[in-house]
Amino acid sequence: MTRAARAVINLSALQHNLQRAKAAAPRSQQFAVIKANAYGHGMVPVAQALTNADGFGVASIEEALELKAAGITQPLLLLEGFFHANELESIRQYGFQVVVHNEAQLAALESISDSASAGQTPITVWIKVDTGMHRLGFEPAVVEDVYQRLLACNVVRKPLRLMTHLASADDLHNKSTQSQIELFNTVLPDENLERSIANSAGILGWMASYRDFARPGILLYGVSPFLNETGADRGLLPVMTLQSELISIKKCLQGDAVGYGADWVCPEDMLVGVVGIGYGDGYPRHAKTGTPVLVDGKRVSLLGRVSMDMISVDLREHPGAKIGSKVVLWGDGLPAEEIAEFASTIAYDLFCGVTLRVPREYISENTVAGESERTERAGAENG
Ligand SMILES: *Cc1c(COP(=O)(O)O)cnc(C)c1O
Repeated sequence: MTRAARAVINLSALQHNLQRAKAAAPRSQQFAVIKANAYGHGMVPVAQALTNADGFGVASIEEALELKAAGITQPLLLLEGFFHANELESIRQYGFQVVVHNEAQLAALESISDSASAGQTPITVWIKVDTGMHRLGFEPAVVEDVYQRLLACNVVRKPLRLMTHLASADDLHNKSTQSQIELFNTVLPDENLERSIANSAGILGWMASYRDFARPGILLYGVSPFLNETGADRGLLPVMTLQSELISIKKCLQGDAVGYGADWVCPEDMLVGVVGIGYGDGYPRHAKTGTPVLVDGKRVSLLGRVSMDMISVDLREHPGAKIGSKVVLWGDGLPAEEIAEFASTIAYDLFCGVTLRVPREYISENTVAGESERTERAGAENG
């Protein structure tokens, strides 16, 4: 490899984080959410490492098929269900589980039920209830009717499952979470149903959201789902470390402007480092001057505008830096939450934004035992 930009993915940290979810909600089955290429971490290697997950949540049948092709055997749940009725044949064939959140999906299941032959394996359906997020799901008032219609479908497995999604659980003081949970409790209270509410924030902060299934996403990747804290505050370990190297060091003079738009002007004679990473790699273009960057493990600051392939950093605090010095943009030693703040976004967005040209390199590092076993896959996977 020539360019040093890469995302190192620590699979031991990923496994550790799943154990944190299991320890928090031990009675819930954990459906690990690995949509969007496992939040940019690489869906197949992440699924292969999560042998302890009880199932996986994905966003589309394409993602589910890719997992099947890779030999993943745990249940696969399509979190938005199917988008067109023509997906139903594959869903049945491969045994995918589906969320049903709208009338079109319901009608499609009814219409294949009419022609279904006995003996075919039924589809596991999760009815989605909108308890206040107003994105996907049926209004609580109509769920009884939806439930009866699905009970009548011979292609649908019984018992049915019932789920909802929390809108503001990242804020531990927000009262709407309790209201959402209470409203969910009023839906089909006496029916024999398997239920699910908790995402990462539910698992780590809202015991009242524990049900048969939990759906951890961001916590698996080592990020706290809560405002104003980092994963370390919750015993989570960072999984992705985005790193590169210094490719140039310039001796700039007082008054020299650095980068596009001459946004930053040197207040004194100083060393400016250039790092081989930019928005073409997914480093956020809106990261502000002052965003922390680790060079040889030392904190320095981003200077001026982010370019496509490069950023500039202030080396006044680290005069010993050299071309080839190792640079960490987020991850080990530098929480992604902190970078997200400087870029006015969230860690989810940073991770999903790491582009295809950045190779993912998978390691297994048992830091607890103090020994580091590094297993690097040949030809590190892209995407
Ligand atoms: C993405 C998603 C999750 C995971 O959310 P996190 O905040 O990452 O834990 C859970 N449930 C549903 C329905 C989702 O779409």
